[in-house]
Amino acid sequence: MTADPFAVELAFERLAAELETETAEHVAGWWRQARAGGPPPPSPASLARASARRLLDEARQVPALTARATPWWRACLVAAVEADPRVSSARAQPWSWSALGPLAAARNRAARALGYDGFIALAADANGAAAAGGAGRDVLDGGPDALAATSAADISLPAVTPGDLLAVAGRLASRLRVDPAGLRVDLGPDHRTFVVTPGRDVRILVSGDRTVSAWLRALHEVGHGLAGATGARPSRAVDEAVATWASDRLTVAADVRELLSVPRPEAVAAAALEARHRRRRAAAVLADFELDLYRDSSGDLDARWQAATAAAGWTRAAAVPPPAFRDDPGAQPAYRAAEDLSGRLDAAIAAGASLIDAIAAVSA
Ligand SMILES: [Zn+2]
Repeated sequence: MTADPFAVELAFERLAAELETETAEHVAGWWRQARAGGPPPPSPASLARASARRLLDEARQVPALTARATPWWRACLVAAVEADPRVSSARAQPWSWSALGPLAAARNRAARALGYDGFIALAADANGAAAAGGAGRDVLDGGPDALAATSAADISLPAVTPGDLLAVAGRLASRLRVDPAGLRVDLGPDHRTFVVTPGRDVRILVSGDRTVSAWLRALHEVGHGLAGATGARPSRAVDEAVATWASDRLTVAADVRELLSVPRPEAVAAAALEARHRRRRAAAVLADFELDLYRDSSGDLDARWQAATAAAGWTRAAAVPPPAFRDDPGAQPAYRAAEDLSGRLDAAIAAGASLIDAIAAVSA
């Protein structure tokens, strides 16, 4: 039986209003917690409701509703997996390499119960990123000492302050034809952007520092902030691509000069380029590991991690798995996809597209 599109539309409007309100409250609560160094609050219960997911799936088949229903449908997919009792119990175990495998297996089971061929296939829908492809081609042997170059004290940079970062965001906003009125920036213990209400209330937290790394992270958040300020709800992969594009402004000396007015923009751009090479290599390693984890969650994951990272030239051992594998499942393939998408965004922007049009162009 085909659902009546008018009935679907009415039900969707009610649900969308509920999701928008609950999500705005959740994100604002998360921002308050993050400023104080606290953990995120639990995600809205409505997102994990099976009836909500089914309705959103129907709504996105209605052409007039597709654009608005799709972001919510994506959010519901991961929420449903994380709300699965076996997943939440596996996630609550003390974090260790031996806890990672059962958590991945539980997510695979939960995704199969939703009709997917495992969790990575679900995450590809949820994040708008294919499960493969990537940034591996821009691999440079920066060597382990490249990190030191990035935070080198001899590159003279101003500290990241809320006022300066907002000014930088304003310059990028005018280039990208985004209204930055809804953006606010605060210093906090973490770097994160909170889109409370797209287009109207977008809050950036950055930790103030004067290194190239600190500015790269701050500009990454400015990218998320500008994407949020457009009013669009881009997929995770596209959102990360905008953040990547913004952070990569530091790799271009002319942009460094325009955005930061520092004495040696070329030195900043050189350090930022090295950081970008390392970031792309890390994105490829992490994405490959996460894909592999959900393909086969058995065996000695610690040893697999050591082998994968050693092959990439990483020297630091990890006593516990990166927390992103617990807290942000399926994100690594999205980060890797973002590396390629940011190049397409850059081309659209260079050709004169506004940010909202560039987002639409790469979301297709
Ligand atoms: Zn990001």
